[in-house]
This record gives sequence, C-alpha cells and structure tokens, in this order.
Amino acid sequence: MFPEHRPRRLRRTESLRRMVRETHIRIDDLIYPIFVKEGASLKEPIEAMPGQFRYSPDMLPKLAKTISSSKIPAVLLFGIPKEKDPAGTSAHRRDGVIQQAVQRIKDAAPDLLVITDVCLCEYTDHGHCGILDDKGEVSNDDTLEVLSTVALSHAKAGSDIIAPSDMMDGRVGIIRESLDESGFEHIPIMSYAVKYASTFYGPFREAAGSAPSSGDRKGYQMDPANVREALREAAYDIEEGADIIMVKPALPYLDVIRLIADEFDTPLCSFQVSGEYSMIKAAFTMGWLNEDACIMESLTCIKRAGSDMIITYFAPRVAELLS
Ligand SMILES: [Zn+2]
Repeated sequence: MFPEHRPRRLRRTESLRRMVRETHIRIDDLIYPIFVKEGASLKEPIEAMPGQFRYSPDMLPKLAKTISSSKIPAVLLFGIPKEKDPAGTSAHRRDGVIQQAVQRIKDAAPDLLVITDVCLCEYTDHGHCGILDDKGEVSNDDTLEVLSTVALSHAKAGSDIIAPSDMMDGRVGIIRESLDESGFEHIPIMSYAVKYASTFYGPFREAAGSAPSSGDRKGYQMDPANVREALREAAYDIEEGADIIMVKPALPYLDVIRLIADEFDTPLCSFQVSGEYSMIKAAFTMGWLNEDACIMESLTCIKRAGSDMIITYFAPRVAELLS
C-alpha cells in the first residue's frame, strides 16, 4: 500500500496535535524586561518599541503587582540614570535608579524575582560597556572592579539574581567572589555568556539611551559569524561560577542555543531582543503578520531549540494568552 507512512494521521485535529506536541511555552518560562528611568511619575512610551515604556521607580509597584498576579516569575531591570560620567559611577550609587527600583518592586511584590542587568553602557557618558583607557579602548581589567561594585550594590538593594551583560573577560569570577565575600553567596549569577554584537539591539539603544558615542561594541561582544567561540565563552562563565547562562539575541541564533543546550547542563536562558520584538510589532501594524500567532511561534521555536527560559517584551501578552 502506498504511501507506507502517514504522519498526517496525527495532525488531523487540534486534539491530536495537542496530544503529540513536543514543546510547550509556560508562564514559568517568561522573564519580562523593564526600563527604569530616574525621576518621578514617568511612563514614557518608547517609539521604536510600541507598547513598551520607560518607568520611573515610583511607578513600579503597580506594574510589579500586575506582573506578579499574571504569574510571570521574574523581571529584568535596565536603568537609565540622570547623570552619566566616564566611569559610570551612577551605576553603583546606593540611591541609584536600579537600587531604588529593586526596593520598590520587592516591597510591592516580594515573590516576583528581580534580576538586575549589570553593565556600564547606560551609565557612561561615552556609552561603552566599560572604562576607557588612554587610547579610547575599553579596558577589561579596570572595568572588572567597577562591575563587581555595581553587582554588590544591586545585591545590597535586594536583587534576586545578578546578570552581567558587559562581555568583559573574567567578570563572572570577580562578581562571584565579591558577592561571596559580602554574604551574598546565595545570590545566583545569570551571565550573558554568549552575547553577539548584534544589529537587532537597535531599538533598545533608543529605549535606554545607550548607543556608544564613538566606535562600536565589536571589541567585546561576539562576532555573529562565530559559533565555536560560543562554546568557549559559555564554558569559561560556567567555570567562573555562572548559575544560568544566556544566549542573546534569540531567534536569529537558534543554532547557537541548540549547541549550548546540548553541550552544557547549566540552565539556559535566551533573550528575544528589542529588534525581534519591534519587527513583529511593525509587521503587525502593517497588517502583514498575525501578532499573537507570531509571538507564540517565535517563543516556541526558541524553546524547541533548547532554551529553558526566555526574556521577552511579549511576556505580559503571552501570560494573557496562556491563561
Ligand atoms: Zn553594556
């Protein structure tokens, strides 16, 4: 009898498809990124990311309660300070924008996990992720000290997970050491282990005002053409003490996610970045894509590739769709 195999039998109805489905998105997989801007009573729309806003810390309790009641387990905070300087000192002020934000959120929604991004690009006047040397290059080792100070200030403010995104060599190790020495040995590190120098970060830079004033970030973020290097980056971070590793961006890098998931048993997170979000939003606005279906398909593919959790600006919408 021809055909001998009939895989279509299991696709005939939605019930059959549900029964044999291999990958499921759960609310528990989601992490929602939030931009926090120093100031008061702010909820500024981000032009390149329709539906996303910059919130001042006093606006966060309400948002945190909404996120928490939707059962999304975690948020990831990015700070936009009032003052910038060459060393990014506002990143580790005790009353800095992130430090205030963490306290506000933890007071309002104690069960909501607060992950804090540790980097300097939003806080330096030159917009690079580290301290510049005499030649204008990012000095790796000078930056490490500042990063560990920032991480410690986040932990003191109540951050649940520290997430260094700077791509300096050795930063996971030095942050782990400084957390441990100060009694924060229980605070996990989620490292942006495999972070590419991606064009898809464009809308984020508008949102956070963090575009470098000169040059680019190719001297520390990874070349999009490389994949063996991703294995080395992940291995170093795990060895230095990363509890969760990340691949960023997500959708154009599914092969990298799959490789890392196969190679390491450390929990894996992927970041569906601003450009991925804005593309779907733009196509929906033009009437070219079905937004909800596209959101769910993109996240399912990221999870199918091997990601355990996903940072996505769509998190609140996905929580609605799933419940
Ligand atoms: Zn940065």
